[in-house]
Amino acid sequence: MSPINFREIPPEKQRKLLLVGSLALASALLFRRQISVSAELVREAVVTKPLPPKRDPSTPTPAGRLFWPVDLSRVRIGPKFMGHAALKTYRHGYGYHTGLDFLTSAVGLKVVAMADGVVVSSTPTASRYGYGHNVLIHHPALGVWTRSSHLYSRDVKAGDVVTAGQQIGRVGDSGTDNVHLHWDVIKLALPNPRFNPHNPATGGVRTPLSGLDPVEEALVRKYFQDPLAFLNARSALNPVTQKVAHA
Ligand SMILES: [Zn+2]
Repeated sequence: MSPINFREIPPEKQRKLLLVGSLALASALLFRRQISVSAELVREAVVTKPLPPKRDPSTPTPAGRLFWPVDLSRVRIGPKFMGHAALKTYRHGYGYHTGLDFLTSAVGLKVVAMADGVVVSSTPTASRYGYGHNVLIHHPALGVWTRSSHLYSRDVKAGDVVTAGQQIGRVGDSGTDNVHLHWDVIKLALPNPRFNPHNPATGGVRTPLSGLDPVEEALVRKYFQDPLAFLNARSALNPVTQKVAHA
């Protein structure tokens, strides 16, 4: 039997063990003879489920330490979630906006993971107008995915485990006509990593250029949520204030 660290025994079991020991000691003193304690009683007292590991306070927690994907001092917030009108400022843009755009002139600006997660896909530009170089990350503890699109470059591959604040790529203009990070917060597993409710080739609908399609709107609301509201509701950290994570 390996030595047992008393402090690793749950309090309830500690009390039981102390009681067993005290009774044995009291009996020994009272009757001045050796008392054997039931092995079963001791085993029952000390063999327990392991305690949950102590949480290291420096470890990012899903609820308490989320990051904006880019340094907010280097970007301005562009078209927002469902902001279809603003999207028309882009040559190709019509329909509902699935995410949030961070506009910048700084090609190569670092993009970081919002939270701990696993990279679902990291794919190159597939078409002139699409998501370009993009990275899709699953954040199991939060029950959401984040997708960073139009990247200049990608620093992770499918299957990689990432931590909150870790660099995953750089801002660019792949698959679009101006430099920005298009960033989605996704609440339901996508039909495919490049799913775009506005693009029939990815499972979306073909929206007339002059109008908005209710089916498309339903698809956006089914799979996506407002990234700005999501981060603000969780007091997400600006990576610029996190020198270690965003050196
Ligand atoms: Zn966008």
